[in-house]
Amino acid sequence: MVSSLVIGRLYTFGVSLLIALIAYPSQIFLFIPAFDNVSTTFKVLIPLNLLVIMVYWNYYLAVQTDPGRVPIEWVDKIPESILIPCNEERRAEGITGPRFCKTCDIYKPPRTHHCRYCRRCVLKMDHHCPWINNCVGYFNYAHFVRFTLYVNIACLYILILLIWRIHKILDDLQHFRFDSEPNTAQVILYVVEFALSFCVFFCVGMLSVYHLYCVTQNQSTIEGWERSKVTRLIRRKRISPVKYPFDIGFYRNICFVMGDNPLLWLWPQQARGDGLSFPVRPNTDPEIPFYWPPRDPDELRPSIFSNRYHQQQQQIHGGEEVIDNNNNTEDYVDSDEYYDSGSLSDSDYSISDEEERLRQPVMRMKRQYRRVSNHKQQQQQQHSPQPISSSSSSNLLLSQSPPLMEQYPESNHHVPLVARNIIMKKDD
Ligand SMILES: [Zn+2]
Ligand SMILES: [Zn+2]
Repeated sequence: MVSSLVIGRLYTFGVSLLIALIAYPSQIFLFIPAFDNVSTTFKVLIPLNLLVIMVYWNYYLAVQTDPGRVPIEWVDKIPESILIPCNEERRAEGITGPRFCKTCDIYKPPRTHHCRYCRRCVLKMDHHCPWINNCVGYFNYAHFVRFTLYVNIACLYILILLIWRIHKILDDLQHFRFDSEPNTAQVILYVVEFALSFCVFFCVGMLSVYHLYCVTQNQSTIEGWERSKVTRLIRRKRISPVKYPFDIGFYRNICFVMGDNPLLWLWPQQARGDGLSFPVRPNTDPEIPFYWPPRDPDELRPSIFSNRYHQQQQQIHGGEEVIDNNNNTEDYVDSDEYYDSGSLSDSDYSISDEEERLRQPVMRMKRQYRRVSNHKQQQQQQHSPQPISSSSSSNLLLSQSPPLMEQYPESNHHVPLVARNIIMKKDD
């Protein structure tokens, strides 16, 4: 823990040093001596130093701003309807129950993911960035994007000045003017500064272009991966066509991240909203953000919380069900079909060791299911050409697979905190 803290500090110190190394030696030893008068020097170098200030300022904000943690008030904002297990029809479309983080013991707000480095759920998590020693999430994403943009602009500015200066030196030498001929130390500095600026411009530039694309799509890096997976599932007809719910249009997407006033998009400002609820495209099912992304129906599995959740409800309410699943409670009571799409999915960004341990039986079950399924399909093909449908495949998976709770009878997993709180509230 202490070592990771030290390594994190070393990263931020290294980045600050790199910025200083690119920005200042070139000005002091290469540019200032090259200008003929003070006025030109100021005109050229003041904008550059303003850019450097903006780089440091946005870097500081990206490092220091908490990306967003799930607040305790989130409990009050969860619509009870999303805690109801999805019916078979929706599960066949890859729409699952609410997303749950076992490590934090809380239902995840839409777009929230668990970060194993920060050891907590992060609102609208983009990625964990060692260079800022912080997660990039809802509240510091715009700072991060502005930081990368200012790094690019500042590096481009320095590269243009370096190229202009080298061009002038070569021109002078061609015309036998040796006044501006650089000494050996300056030549080395030219090469080092050019290499550093170009490398940073190239690497951070690619990052910037990707994040600008993400801003225009209103998606995080994780959601980009999820969207690719959803597109694949739709193309293979594993799930029904569904549109990414958070894309609210090119201009509004940018405003959502960078602010409403385009003149201030590059000016540091706090993120609006609470990071718990998000605007969605028109005609979107209001529950979709809580379940997003849809998954391959064959990869869904019974929740490890299901049995205990049900038992707890019965103990508290003497067998009377609290949550009415649209008169569909019988399915819920008799089966282990309370799904969660939280921490144990393939597409989840970070999976803790314990989750990984729990995943192994699921993968074994899937392999076993595929073997049985292939065998069955071959048999069917011999008698009839009709393929197995997705929902029947899902049922087959369940029928072939013992519930996880049976495999882990000693499991300490308990009723989710949020569900408990909702039950308590209902008692009051
Ligand atoms: Zn978590
Ligand atoms: Zn993190």
